[in-house]
Amino acid sequence: MVKLSKRLQAVADLTAPWRRIADIGSDHAHLPLYLREQNKIEFAVCGEVIPGPYEIAAEHVKNSAYANNLIVRLADGLQAIQQADQVDCAVIAGMGGMLITQILDSGLKELTWLKGLVLQPNQNADAVRQWLAEHSWQITAENLVFDEGHYYQMMAAVPAPVKQIYSPLQLLMGPTMLTAQNVPVAFTSYWQFKLTQKQGILAQLKTAAEPPVAKISKMTAEIALIEEGLNATNRSTNY
Ligand code: SAM
Repeated sequence: MVKLSKRLQAVADLTAPWRRIADIGSDHAHLPLYLREQNKIEFAVCGEVIPGPYEIAAEHVKNSAYANNLIVRLADGLQAIQQADQVDCAVIAGMGGMLITQILDSGLKELTWLKGLVLQPNQNADAVRQWLAEHSWQITAENLVFDEGHYYQMMAAVPAPVKQIYSPLQLLMGPTMLTAQNVPVAFTSYWQFKLTQKQGILAQLKTAAEPPVAKISKMTAEIALIEEGLNATNRSTNY
């Protein structure tokens, strides 16, 4: 039985209700194998650009009970998907946000075939949200988890009729997090951590012989934004 990390489990949970997925940057194909084993999907493309992980993924799938339902392809980004696959949702997880946006930019044609995206950037989640908004994808669900000493943000999105406009706070913390009835405990602890970190940096900047005015004002604005977000989500009961 495939056991996922807490991070990848949270990504897997966001793939509901999609039954045909593409896992882009599948590495060892753990996510699609888990989803198929749990009967949460019927079909998956496992895309991987590096030959080593691709061969391991292919071996794992071949040795599983699901070789008929999972296709492993050596391909760059969304080029792993063919229209005939009838994939509903692409998952791109465990990479930097800038790489995720590059993969999305290079796959505009394939994106028109999809009904959903699940993205888990290790950094620059705000840049991923901005990309989605500008390309008419609406964020419908988000999560933030703490796993093995790191915080991870993730999101699900669906095509929207028009471009979305997210405020700086929505881009930073996630639009659905800010309106959620409950935010995860990890959400609050992550943003408290970031707040303390930035307050420390601001205090240091202010002690400089010649305080850098532009940096101080940028840091002050970032701190105010995080405080605003923490206040906005303070009403929710943590889970
Ligand atoms: N998605 C898995 C997860 O979340 O655990 C694996 C994450 S692993 C850190 C990132 C994987 O993405 C690597 O196996 C890497 O080779 C692959 N990758 C990076 N760029 C890619 C691209 N343009 N197309 C397909 N795979 C890519």
